[in-house]
Amino acid sequence: METLLVVGAGPKALAVATKAHVLHELGLPAPRVVAVEASAVGGNWLPTGGWTDGQHRLGTSPEKDVGFPYHSTWARGRNQEINAAMMAYSWTSFLVEQGTYAEWIDRGRPNPHHHVWAKYLQWVARRVDLELITGTVRSVAAAGAGWSVTATDADGIPTRVDVDRLMITGPGQAGKALAEHPRVLSIAEFWDLAGRRDLPVSSRVAVIGGGETAGSALDELVRHGMLSISVISPMATIYTRGESYFENSLFSDPIKWAALTIEERRDVIRRTDRGVFSVRVQESLLPDSRVHHLQGRVVRVADQGDGVALTLRNEMRADQVHAFDLVVDATGGQPLWFLDLFDQDAADLVELAVGGRPTQSRIEASIGYDLAVTGLDSKLYLPNLAAIAQGPGFPNLSCLGELSDRILRSEPVRPRSGAYLAGAVRPRG
Ligand SMILES: Cc1cc2nc3c(=O)[nH]c(=O)nc-3n(C[C@H](O)[C@H](O)[C@H](O)COP(=O)(O)OP(=O)(O)OC[C@H]3O[C@@H](n4cnc5c(N)ncnc54)[C@H](O)[C@@H]3O)c2cc1C
Repeated sequence: METLLVVGAGPKALAVATKAHVLHELGLPAPRVVAVEASAVGGNWLPTGGWTDGQHRLGTSPEKDVGFPYHSTWARGRNQEINAAMMAYSWTSFLVEQGTYAEWIDRGRPNPHHHVWAKYLQWVARRVDLELITGTVRSVAAAGAGWSVTATDADGIPTRVDVDRLMITGPGQAGKALAEHPRVLSIAEFWDLAGRRDLPVSSRVAVIGGGETAGSALDELVRHGMLSISVISPMATIYTRGESYFENSLFSDPIKWAALTIEERRDVIRRTDRGVFSVRVQESLLPDSRVHHLQGRVVRVADQGDGVALTLRNEMRADQVHAFDLVVDATGGQPLWFLDLFDQDAADLVELAVGGRPTQSRIEASIGYDLAVTGLDSKLYLPNLAAIAQGPGFPNLSCLGELSDRILRSEPVRPRSGAYLAGAVRPRG
């Protein structure tokens, strides 16, 4: 049996592991799925992940769970069985088991807090007996017909895992800020201080970024006593995410995506995903007269008295300098973070496959139907970069069931006899 290793035990890893578990139970072929996780299952939805304090709410409905949209196309004649079996791991099954299903319905099906979403993911992991290696992936090397991945545990002890296929998830580091300055916080520092009720006293605060990360940070800041809160983004305004059936259906079912031009696809993503705040976040910000939007890219960070001065650049205008007491870098993840893990040979293979230096746009253009980089002998699944080529729902929670179908139905390229595991920690199984 082939082994698929997933870096990060978040929703995508759980979606793929659950579908593989269901396929095995139904006697259908699927690879063995192993996840390597640096903190805990669902770690990026907990304060330790650095992206949230766990107390903010999911922007999307939790019914977009690990099996959504329950429309498997994996196996002709067996799809209804697969869908029915996947329902055992749904958000509603979780609530039924917790005894809170009726209450959730009666309260109007609220979106859960991030830490509750992590609990759901942990429940799924237990139910499918997820094979988990606790450790941080430090390097990825090309290894014959697959990948050799090395992770270190909390004591720095390495584990090497040789696998056939590799999937990368997550947004990268939360601890990086655009400048090293005591008044400029990374998103991880921000949540750490906010969680400890220890944010520096400040009257003028800026949040850089216009997406989910910035939205959650603003949702928190408006609960504090700042005098003004500026949101800085290069866009002309902060858009509200389009949430009608027409937009959502493109996320749930990407079947129409291939028929759109690249410009139309970029337009959909601009209006619905990048640089947009959820309706709920907008509703909490709009009545607050302290919140303003400043357009521009931050090109310079400098000391200004006890605070910090940011230089904002816009194409058609002269640079503007604004002073703040506190700045939060909420620009979000680094889409290519995983390339730092790749050794030279592995990086060369990717470069060859994408036809040049692996830039974001080259990799995005190379993602095939199975959400892997086209042209690589060993599968490298990059769902976070699959929006443009395959559908806007693949990087997020919008169609995890479709994501797992696509990844698990890839044909094995060169079957190996089995995964080789070395080091101090071995996954079960
Ligand atoms: C504040 C916030 C709110 C969001 N809300 C929504 C929402 O409501 N709806 C939506 O669709 N999307 C939302 N998103 C986007 C969200 O990140 C993705 O939808 C989803 O979490 C991605 O799932 P994932 O499995 O790729 O990664 P993640 O859930 O980010 O999981 C990645 C995992 O990888 C682990 N990890 C990282 N580096 C390593 C390493 N080197 N080795 C081992 N493990 C590692 C992390 O600990 C983490 O557990 C939100 C993002 C943020 C920041």
